[in-house]
Amino acid sequence: MRKIAIVGAGQAGMVLAFGLLQEGYEVTVFEGRPADEIERGPILSTAMVFDRQLDVERRLGLQEWEGKAPVCNGMHATLRLPNGEIVLQIQGGLDETCQGVDARIKTSTWMRRFAEQGGTVVHQAVNRSTLESLAEAFDLVAVSTGKGSLGEVFEIDRERTLFDSPPRRLGAVILKGVREWEDIPYTALKFQFFIQAGEFFAIPFYSHTGPCRAVCFEAIPGGPMDVWGGVDSADKALATALRLLREGSPQDWPNYQNAQLVDENAWLRGAITPVVRKPVGRLRNGKAVMALGDVAVLNDPIGGTGANDAIRQADRMIRAIQERGGQPFDETWMRETFDAYYHERGKYTMEFTRLMTGPMTEPFWKVLQAAAQSPGVAHTFANMFNDIKESLGWMTDMRAADAVCAANANELRGARILTLQEAMARLAPQGGAVEAA
Ligand SMILES: Cc1cc2nc3c(=O)[nH]c(=O)nc-3n(C[C@H](O)[C@H](O)[C@H](O)COP(=O)(O)OP(=O)(O)OC[C@H]3O[C@@H](n4cnc5c(N)ncnc54)[C@H](O)[C@@H]3O)c2cc1C
Repeated sequence: MRKIAIVGAGQAGMVLAFGLLQEGYEVTVFEGRPADEIERGPILSTAMVFDRQLDVERRLGLQEWEGKAPVCNGMHATLRLPNGEIVLQIQGGLDETCQGVDARIKTSTWMRRFAEQGGTVVHQAVNRSTLESLAEAFDLVAVSTGKGSLGEVFEIDRERTLFDSPPRRLGAVILKGVREWEDIPYTALKFQFFIQAGEFFAIPFYSHTGPCRAVCFEAIPGGPMDVWGGVDSADKALATALRLLREGSPQDWPNYQNAQLVDENAWLRGAITPVVRKPVGRLRNGKAVMALGDVAVLNDPIGGTGANDAIRQADRMIRAIQERGGQPFDETWMRETFDAYYHERGKYTMEFTRLMTGPMTEPFWKVLQAAAQSPGVAHTFANMFNDIKESLGWMTDMRAADAVCAANANELRGARILTLQEAMARLAPQGGAVEAA
């Protein structure tokens, strides 16, 4: 029986672990923190996962939050000036719904179940030297340690990496006591774009206290929303989040005014430099290990891609391992397996992150304005996160943006669509220029 080691029991590692265990492989998961500590410890993310990726979890028997976690089935978005004034408002239904479950609950539940089903979980923080021993003892070692430092075993691929610094500074909180929006006909992802300041998005979520909301704040470094630097406690995190919500989105304040953290660890702050790493890590003993999940492709959360990508990559790896039969998992196989995933998905999610955090493009601006005036275009816009490849078309190519508008020409008759330059001229005197959204 082939022996596989997986280092890191997060979203990527556990999908791979269950997939291989169910195919009869001998799988050992090495995780730095015990399940109980993960369950009540600090949050590392507030990820929502789309239905196609949830299907992978369902297939592996890992989806037990259906019927408990709220189903996100729409998007409500506003474009605002930094002072909170609304420039545009858009809402639309999702063709593919999504679900956000606290990763602390997912990981700890899955670790316990994995052991019950015959897998081995070793509580150990793996370092470079233990990694060498693992590479000697196992047929394949996958490293899925997320943003942890062990990922540095894999060299950054400078050709594929589109960033050299964090495009945003982050804060995130998981809140209970948020009143849902009765005037929005969806259980909606609420996305606010602030001209020259950043974004925040609130997603329907599930945590220790049941259904709740996770809110992620994305600040352009040095801008007016870049206020998380001094946040070092739960009280400060809650106060900072509520102040940003009250000032940036005053219309939503009645919904947030009674909000509390679901527990004292339900907050984070930080900044992520998106990177693509080479998939093969060569160790001092000459052995090779393979990168998986955030270790392989790390993005800022703005695109809502990391956990979805982690599941896709792990699922692809399950199949590639099976197809390999009894042949060695050598460096060529590792590279080819990763490249197949990268060309199918990884390169698009990094490009999407670049577009979402970079200067506004003319086609994106056109669709954004049209979406505020046409339900048909709003529907395309609302689905931008679940079909990233498709969205990249109208975000970058004016012909694709024109086609989205032309398909809804009836609704857009008489609509006012400004060029970016015209919009800048109108908005700049009020305190902003449409350079980034
Ligand atoms: C605020 C925020 C919001 C996000 N929102 C979304 C979203 O809406 N949608 C989306 O798709 N993605 C989102 N993401 C990204 C997503 O959370 C990650 O991409 C995803 O969790 C990556 O999975 P992973 O398995 O690679 O790493 P992780 O889930 O981070 O798991 C890594 C595991 O490795 C363990 N570990 C670390 N070092 C070691 C070591 N040396 N030895 C042993 N174990 C170790 C850790 O304890 C952890 O359990 C968000 C991220 C953040 C920060």
